[in-house]
Amino acid sequence: MTVTGRNELSSARRLVVKVGSSSISGENAGQIEVIVDALAAAHAHGTEVVLVSSGAIATGLPYLKLDVRPDDLATQQAAAAVGQNVLIYRYQDSLDRYGITAGQVLLTAGDLENPTHRNNAESAMDRLLSLRILPIVNENDTVATHEIRFGDNDRLAALVAVLVKADAMVLLSDVDALYTRPPHEKGAERIEYVTYGDKLEGVEFGSIGAAGVGTGGAATKVSAAHVATDAGVPVLVTAASMVAQALAGDEIGTWFEAGSRR
Ligand code: GLU
Repeated sequence: MTVTGRNELSSARRLVVKVGSSSISGENAGQIEVIVDALAAAHAHGTEVVLVSSGAIATGLPYLKLDVRPDDLATQQAAAAVGQNVLIYRYQDSLDRYGITAGQVLLTAGDLENPTHRNNAESAMDRLLSLRILPIVNENDTVATHEIRFGDNDRLAALVAVLVKADAMVLLSDVDALYTRPPHEKGAERIEYVTYGDKLEGVEFGSIGAAGVGTGGAATKVSAAHVATDAGVPVLVTAASMVAQALAGDEIGTWFEAGSRR
């Protein structure tokens, strides 16, 4: 189906929901439950949901006895290897309340460019969804580092949304919407609707979300939204704490209109 506005999210056939590191790690680890509640509600009324979750590095830090994110890539990758395991355990523990089983899918952007890998990923995802499993996707951080360096999985989520032909993608972070200026500054106004093709020139993006523990920000959300909308997948950007309202179709966040479906 073609989802043309927020109010149709609740009846979407297939959704990709992406959550950022800072929304589900550290003092926000409890928010996993809030996200799972909303995903389980969508799952219960028949929507196929793919969760793209970052947070492996952030979740792994305390297990490596680190207080802050290390600067070197190899230690970040080590933290991700440890944290991914814990993160999936936390999701599954929470999903157990609803009798839903998660499937872990680790991908690289390169996998999605290689035709054989891409076909394999696509059929595995399709099969998981037809088995009513909830795929939880992250970057395969021990072999790829694009998202560690630039995006906290924003771009990966867009590539996955295109791969699985999602009806829409929801990007969740710590801020309720994109703003015309960094949200704490005077005169910042919420951007409610982005017409397809609008490159948002002149909008001054500070970093939103993920401060300290991840690498995403408003700019990576906008470029991920362009990847998705160019392939016909509309995008909603909002806060993780508002995920239930988002999936229910409330008039929140920033909506990116999609181009025609490729
Ligand atoms: N894949 C990484 C993770 O899950 C990306 C997050 C980041 O940008 O640090 O931790």
